[in-house]
Amino acid sequence: MKHSWPGTRASGPTGSWRSAPAPSDQATVRRSNLSLVLRHISDHGPCSRSVLAMHTGLNKTTVTSLVSELQSRGLIKETGPQHAGAVGRPSLALTLDGSKVGALGLEVNVDYIAAIATDLAGRILIDRRISFDAMGSGPERSLDELVRMIGRAVTDLDRLGASPAGVTVAVPGLINTATGTVVFAPNLGWRDVPLVERLREAGIPTTAPFAVDNDANLAAMAEYTSGVAAGTGDLVYLTGEVGVGGGIISNGQLISGADGFAGELGHIRVDPDGVRCGCGRIGCWETKVGLAALVRMVTPERAYGTHQHIVRDPEERLAEIEQRRDDGDPRVDAAVAEVGTWLGRGAALLVNLFNPRVIVLGGYFARFGDQIIPVAEAELNRLCIAETAGRCHFMASDLGFGAASRGAAGLSVDRVLSDPTSIAHLHTKEDELR
Ligand SMILES: [Zn+2]
Repeated sequence: MKHSWPGTRASGPTGSWRSAPAPSDQATVRRSNLSLVLRHISDHGPCSRSVLAMHTGLNKTTVTSLVSELQSRGLIKETGPQHAGAVGRPSLALTLDGSKVGALGLEVNVDYIAAIATDLAGRILIDRRISFDAMGSGPERSLDELVRMIGRAVTDLDRLGASPAGVTVAVPGLINTATGTVVFAPNLGWRDVPLVERLREAGIPTTAPFAVDNDANLAAMAEYTSGVAAGTGDLVYLTGEVGVGGGIISNGQLISGADGFAGELGHIRVDPDGVRCGCGRIGCWETKVGLAALVRMVTPERAYGTHQHIVRDPEERLAEIEQRRDDGDPRVDAAVAEVGTWLGRGAALLVNLFNPRVIVLGGYFARFGDQIIPVAEAELNRLCIAETAGRCHFMASDLGFGAASRGAAGLSVDRVLSDPTSIAHLHTKEDELR
């Protein structure tokens, strides 16, 4: 079974920007019913018109009309007959089509830009990542590279016969999703970058809507819908990159906070005597467990921010660290144990606050999961008030560094499920002859 996209728990007066407006007129009611039917098929898999009517509470005539509109927009298709039971004739099942839809998700991070496109059912159409010094390049050159990456993905989707249904960009920082602005991304050195506006003005050949969101929140959503702990309603996601981001899912809802800034877990202060963080404060959690901390401990000559700093894809850095471990460099085991200990210390705060069932470790944490998890779990058990840490355990993500872009593509899919009318009707043969 597929797990549907979590809602967001916001406390602002306008509520979540993801929630649909209250039905007020016929077109709105129609749109919300189209969404209801499409989501049901997306969540529960192939089913017949009569099953749809039964489960949605809509009458059969309405369902038939909605189904035919969704077919005409290329979002669902009929498959072979489904036997509802021993009696009665078999009926045709409806399943997601969406082969004409490409949901695009990108991620700008400190040393790479990633792009993933999926179809409506979440099948991967494009998956690529390039090394890029976003930290050193500044917002202007980073935006140029991002625009190039999006343009290339749009062209590739076009070649696959799919048009982009939405373009969502994941950025490690505080995001105003309503205005599409990156308010502050400390590890990129960005402040008040109107990302969505800039993408709209860049002449990218698509009419798809653009959006920007926090990378770790998007990754948490990807974990909740399709990761190792998919469907776990109380889940904390932690990503180990240069920054440490997090997303908290509580009772199936992403906690976003009053301004959408919740989940800045990397900047919880854990060591008042520690070093300065990219955000300007002292002793943030990410200065203890981020990739920059690991690199500093194992290969200090190549630490981020030094003149020897070479821009490399995190995978390459990790391969080098693993090689050193295999060559018997004692610094690697010591550094990984240090990270595990501090991970457990910070996690104890989170477990005391949110009582999650699972903490999913993404980014580089997952690569060293076998070593990090036992150390972190021991420290968590030692510090957490609930016995055996409230039955919470760590799991290593299998989504790798693609989790945020995967989540970004998922948000683009969710937009189509929320408003199927955002996808144009397919051209018929007659249209083409006209
Ligand atoms: Zn910080």
